Amino acid sequence: MLSLTDRQAIARRDAEYLALPLQLGRDPASVTAHLREMVRRLKAGSCRQAVTWLTDLFDRSAPPTEGMACARGCAFCCVQTVVVTPAEAFAVAAQLREQTAPALRDYPVRRLGEPRSDWRPCPFLAADKACAVYDSRPLACHGFISFDLAACIGFFGGSDAAAPDFTPPERQRLLLACRKMLCAAHILAGHGEPQGHELTGAVAAILATPDAEARWHRGENVLKAVPMGPSLPPAVQQEIRQMVALVAPTL
Ligand code: SF4
Repeated sequence: MLSLTDRQAIARRDAEYLALPLQLGRDPASVTAHLREMVRRLKAGSCRQAVTWLTDLFDRSAPPTEGMACARGCAFCCVQTVVVTPAEAFAVAAQLREQTAPALRDYPVRRLGEPRSDWRPCPFLAADKACAVYDSRPLACHGFISFDLAACIGFFGGSDAAAPDFTPPERQRLLLACRKMLCAAHILAGHGEPQGHELTGAVAAILATPDAEARWHRGENVLKAVPMGPSLPPAVQQEIRQMVALVAPTL
């Protein structure tokens, strides 16, 4: 049990890191500070606040994107299946509740790992092809960028070519670190290790369930009917457990 003095010292040190971009490296102080902040937000009952903290952190920590081909209304890539944690699905659903939600009942059920021939435009694309849940979009959507519009048109348009390396390695490394933090935050907030869900199925289930987020925060698995993706690789699980072990005694 931490003393009040210890808690105050941790809060003071965290405040210095929270104002900065995420620092990856041997010293875990930056990761643990941001993880504590996410857990605090999750425990306060707001997945949206926890997720947007992390996605904002991702955006301000990412390497420069000069020369990026992506722009508002360019949505060639928004046909892929998107894997989300429960908190990310609740964040999208929370934003949709504030606006006109798309009719997900009419949207075909999607499966993680479905063939490219089954890919179709995300139901959260607005008429102008901008993302209608841009502020709450999942981490994977923040992570994906391209510097080659022709490659996007070719690959997402259905060419038989193998997937080019759209996202630079440094950005992928940051994305993986943020994914691990999100998983660790779920565990530290008492929700167990999250397995990935397909975005649209998870959001549809949440919107169809009264008080879904409040029930999830109370421990009910309101997403149990939504198919889950495969388990994370053992090495990634191990790194998540290490994050949890570092932060758990400090909460
Ligand atoms: S949530 Fe938004 S950014 Fe992500 S695939 Fe759907 S439309 Fe694209």
